[in-house]
Amino acid sequence: MAETVYKKISQDITEKIKKFSADYNGRSTGRVIFSGDGVIRADGLSDVQYGEMLDIDGKSRAIVLDLHEKEIGAIVLDEADSVYANMLVKSTGHVVEVPVGVELFGRVVDSLGNPIDGLGPIGAKAFRPIEAPAPSIRERAKITEPLHTGILAVDAMVPIGKGQRELIIGDRQTGKTSVAIDAILNQKGKNVYCVYVAIGQKASAVSGIVHTLGVRGALEYTCVVCATARDSAPLQYIAPFSGCAIAEEMMYSGKDVLVVYDDLSKHAVAYRAMSLLLKRPSGREAYPGDIFYLHSRLLERAAKLGSGFGGGSMTALPIVETQAGDISAYVPTNVISITDGQIYLESTLFNAGVRPALNVGLSVSRVGGSAQSRAMKKVSGRLRLYLSQYRELSSFAQFGSELDNSTVQMIETGKRIVEVLKQSKHSAYDSVHEVIILYIVMKDLLQEVPTDKVNDFVKAFCSFLDINCVDIVCEINEKNDIGLEIGLVIEERVKEFSKFYFEEIVNE
Ligand code: ATP
Ligand code: MG
Repeated sequence: MAETVYKKISQDITEKIKKFSADYNGRSTGRVIFSGDGVIRADGLSDVQYGEMLDIDGKSRAIVLDLHEKEIGAIVLDEADSVYANMLVKSTGHVVEVPVGVELFGRVVDSLGNPIDGLGPIGAKAFRPIEAPAPSIRERAKITEPLHTGILAVDAMVPIGKGQRELIIGDRQTGKTSVAIDAILNQKGKNVYCVYVAIGQKASAVSGIVHTLGVRGALEYTCVVCATARDSAPLQYIAPFSGCAIAEEMMYSGKDVLVVYDDLSKHAVAYRAMSLLLKRPSGREAYPGDIFYLHSRLLERAAKLGSGFGGGSMTALPIVETQAGDISAYVPTNVISITDGQIYLESTLFNAGVRPALNVGLSVSRVGGSAQSRAMKKVSGRLRLYLSQYRELSSFAQFGSELDNSTVQMIETGKRIVEVLKQSKHSAYDSVHEVIILYIVMKDLLQEVPTDKVNDFVKAFCSFLDINCVDIVCEINEKNDIGLEIGLVIEERVKEFSKFYFEEIVNE
């Protein structure tokens, strides 16, 4: 009797198992066990991968950042306040992607590539994961082409090549953003796409930048990726990666791109906030141990590709803010060691009216020199030396001691060099003009000009050459060199122009 009952039960079970069909689509499902400050922990998700996008109850999205044996940790991207414990979480099977392509240029988007400029849908045809491996050594080529910024001090002393990573570092309000924006503005008509990533800035500041780009006709080739201070830490954290993916698409399609990350200190702070909420152990300055990896995997993606790989390039200008000029803090030293050089802007120089406030001693470009034009190399070769000599001698001169003629001469030349390197924002020089200006100041042809008139004089002289001596400008442009003959002609023209210029001053 009992045997038949068991048989019946076993048959029923076998039948039920045969009939069983679960609506299984290959994705695992779990439940939120903790939610707070934009971070969730969930269990039941056995097969998710690092960086995978999760769907929380069809309302919010999250990115997996922590994988434990029984549970995962993730950061919520949208509507973090409406996520609470016990909600259903599904893995989506793919990592976070952003829309990419030429459609993005001329637009302002958030960290996930959604338009925020009120100009309607973007209509991008392609998507790209925000995290991607950097190009391998095989794919890379030597940096040989200059990326002209139009800022004389930068182009002469810390030249940037296409594919280089050059850090812009300095205290707050020292003109860091202005240098980067000027570099973007100067790419007009030069076939370089630009991506400006604003991280943790005030929305009003970003809107000012978008306005400047728009007014100066630079927005059409620029994409602004914006995660303002009001956005959550996760959105600020992914913003540079999204910007990088947008730039990467252009690089791999053979174009030149310039990407600005403004700034990585705020990015590090956002990452620190997330990591602490995820209960990761904190290290120096409370940053998590992988903060170096965070920035290196971002910046390593900038490259100059070889001709067999499309020949595109991605030049990265990360910005880092220092506190009281301390470049030996954790994040600044990390980023300095990742990049190929730095432009160090100093607040004392800025306040003394030397703008851009470039500290020549601490600024370097490790690879840009090989991308500099021959003419520029010739005229700027001794510039650093002159400036350092001037700085040394002028500190002596402060004591009011008697100076010999050659020292006085050197100080006078130094003063004029410093004046020539001063440049207001959004007033880029043409590359030929840069060469001519440096030539005349290094050849000591401005001794007659009073120091406060030097800047005005060289600008007026360049306009004079453009109108009256087109041949000189054309020749330097064509040959990309400044020879002895043309040098003599320029010297003649300076003398000629000086007479005319000083007459004007007297008449005034
Ligand atoms: P923050 O730390 O707030 O991001 P920042 O270092 O990015 O500041 P900017 O916003 O670029 O600095 O510039 C600070 C101020 O200095 C601005 O008002 C700007 O107009 C002015 N400024 C920047 N560069 C120059 C320049 N070359 N000539 C004159 N003024 C300048
Ligand atoms: Mg700034």
